[in-house]
Amino acid sequence: MPRSLAVLHGLVVTMNPGRNVIEDGGIYIEGDRIVKVGTASEIRESFSFDDEVDATDKVVIPGLIDSHRHLYGILTRGMPIKEAPKSFIGFLEDFWWPMVEDRLDKEMIRVGALASGLEALKNGTTCVADILEAPNAIPGALDVEAEAIEKLGLRAILSFEATQRVSDDNAWLGVKENEQFVRKHNAQEGLIRGMMCVHTTFTCEPDFLREVRRIATEVGSGIHLHLEEGAYETMHALVKYRKLPIQLYEEIGFLGPDILAAQCVHTRPEEVEIMRRRDVKVSHEPLSNCEVGGGIARVPEMLEAGLTVGLGTDGYVTDEFEVMRATFLIHKGRLQDPTVMPADVVFEMATVNNARAIGMEREIGSIEPGKKADIVVLDYRPPTPLTPENVLAHLVTFADGSRVRDVIVDGKVVVRGGRVLTVDEEEVREKASEQAMRLWKGL
Ligand SMILES: [Zn+2]
Repeated sequence: MPRSLAVLHGLVVTMNPGRNVIEDGGIYIEGDRIVKVGTASEIRESFSFDDEVDATDKVVIPGLIDSHRHLYGILTRGMPIKEAPKSFIGFLEDFWWPMVEDRLDKEMIRVGALASGLEALKNGTTCVADILEAPNAIPGALDVEAEAIEKLGLRAILSFEATQRVSDDNAWLGVKENEQFVRKHNAQEGLIRGMMCVHTTFTCEPDFLREVRRIATEVGSGIHLHLEEGAYETMHALVKYRKLPIQLYEEIGFLGPDILAAQCVHTRPEEVEIMRRRDVKVSHEPLSNCEVGGGIARVPEMLEAGLTVGLGTDGYVTDEFEVMRATFLIHKGRLQDPTVMPADVVFEMATVNNARAIGMEREIGSIEPGKKADIVVLDYRPPTPLTPENVLAHLVTFADGSRVRDVIVDGKVVVRGGRVLTVDEEEVREKASEQAMRLWKGL
């Protein structure tokens, strides 16, 4: 008999197809799966269980998903730089590439993954789709990252960014890193999966991209990439190929429902139409787009066109409640229209849309029987009434990661009463600080 667990008495936001919210709700879990969702009394009457999470006066939500993260990014917080980059491409050429990505080694990657993954759990994020960008740390960098994430008990889809920026040899080494990782992890049940990954049309040639597409199809994984984060990629493709980036991807047969395109800030309506036709998935990163002066993606228009758009932190501000809040507000401001991006749509982006974006809609994203038990309990008690009708407006507008009390991933309690059970938080913080100092050395 697998271990059983019940979450009882909370206001349960299921995000099931009927979007039911259950007062004094109950969830019964066996092993890694949700077996029954109902009222607390129904669960108590029908089942006995080994362990219980009391969610009285609390809100219970599906674990949030981050569909675009860079775990190592946590080591750059407060990093001293002599001069702020003046453009998006300046951010890459003067900062991220030489000062961060090219300097990362395995120990920095391991500790960065631990520290950022720890923060994910504490903020109610139970699954991250990550891109590791560290050309001098392969082979074996993804294995190091996976070990840290498994130790934490977080769910993740890991990928290594293959790019011809450094050299062709390095790009192929990156492809191999992903391919081997995908073959090893995707065949088995577990917290960790892999995905193929490339950078952009300005750092990868069409022949290279074609071959990555072929391998991804062969191994049955999707491809995670950055798309038009700044105007630079759009302009580069127009000058070099006389095409927009998505038109180029379409021409080389790259696009499909397993493509996860992050950012899409400068993606034009004619590209959105191609993406809709190919069912390409989008991950929206409003906060990091602001940080690099990139702009504001046309997200309401993409949703209107029928694209699946999820949310990502980009490894920048990693509290997904903050990313939801930015998504809720920024598009209202841009379009001067308070009716766009209602709270329920934004919450869908962080849960069910993200699950679809990473190809896991049958397993996570909602609290439903048969799905993996990835569940978060929030201690959110507002000074006004909290009802099934207004709970999402409350959470998207006023909640934050500090409200997270209990976190269940794959049926296991990994955070209880706000404390992470799987690692020593203080030790992780100290190690992260040491590795940040190594990364910053000489700057
Ligand atoms: Zn990114």
